Amino acid sequence: MLVTDTETGQTTGTVLTGRNNIFTVDTEFGSLLCRLKGKRLDIEERSYSPLSPGDLVTLSELDTGNSTAIIDDRLTRRNAFERYNVKRNLPQTLAANVDQALCVSSLHHPRFRPRFVDRFLALCEFQGVAGGVVLNKSDLDTGQAPDIVSLYGGIGYPVSVVSATEGSGLEALKVAIEGVRTVLVGQSGVGKSALLNAIVGTEVQRTGEISARYLRGRHTTNAGRLLKTASAEIIDTPGIRDLDVRLISTGELAWCYREFRPFMGTCKHGDCSHVEEPGCGIERACKDGEIPPARYESYCRLHAELQHVETEQS
Ligand code: GDP
Ligand code: ZN
Repeated sequence: MLVTDTETGQTTGTVLTGRNNIFTVDTEFGSLLCRLKGKRLDIEERSYSPLSPGDLVTLSELDTGNSTAIIDDRLTRRNAFERYNVKRNLPQTLAANVDQALCVSSLHHPRFRPRFVDRFLALCEFQGVAGGVVLNKSDLDTGQAPDIVSLYGGIGYPVSVVSATEGSGLEALKVAIEGVRTVLVGQSGVGKSALLNAIVGTEVQRTGEISARYLRGRHTTNAGRLLKTASAEIIDTPGIRDLDVRLISTGELAWCYREFRPFMGTCKHGDCSHVEEPGCGIERACKDGEIPPARYESYCRLHAELQHVETEQS
């Protein structure tokens, strides 16, 4: 049955997944396989994909019999979790319109990488997304978890210690994602799939199926997807190796380390870069034990990296 715009008014939907300009969109008529009107949307930006899981879109030419429609427009995003895709040299939105982003990491195999977490949290701050950390594989932990919990917990980020395979910590994590939309980001091998299975289990609405059928053999693992359960929405993203932060400028970076903010007006020079500058209030706060040294070092490293990128680009 073809449902025309005049009968329904404008239909909106939420992008669940998609690739190559074909998207699965969740609507009041169920999930529909949609293509972009005129192959591209009228969006003023260069990006990896015009739409990401979580995007709200307006639809026309709804054919509920065949479960298809055309995507006319993307509605303004409330926020988005983006990274810079170095390989493609483009910003890549991993998820749109989210309530929180969790960095899924592993305590063992692969080893815990604090610098990855710091990059993730800086991006969260920059993009106005509430961030948190999940430490998976707690059953293999050799005693690191308490220090990591106290470091990140101490600066105000929620940290969940879980074992996807043993089940410990999962109830608390389920509570933390209840009633909101959460994007999960992590390196390959940290156990994101195992965690999703453990949290979502058989509750997963099998909405990705249409596109899975369509996209078979087309690297479906590269596409993120929004999963709905009775009590939560989870955006699963492909495992990533690196989280490039060049969306942030050197001047904005200190603000993205949230525990630096109380000291930001205390530097001798107004344009202080907080890296080995005389009279730096951030460095002093670190020496006084008010900022964790590991985070200050991480800031200095990221600052150097961004400075290098900015020099290359200028
Ligand atoms: P993904 O790449 O992040 O999706 O990782 P997978 O979910 O595929 O997990 C990678 C490997 O780690 C698999 O062999 C899992 O069985 C294992 N794994 C995942 N979670 C845990 C855990 O909590 N404890 C242990 N011991 N192994 C885990
Ligand atoms: Zn300073």
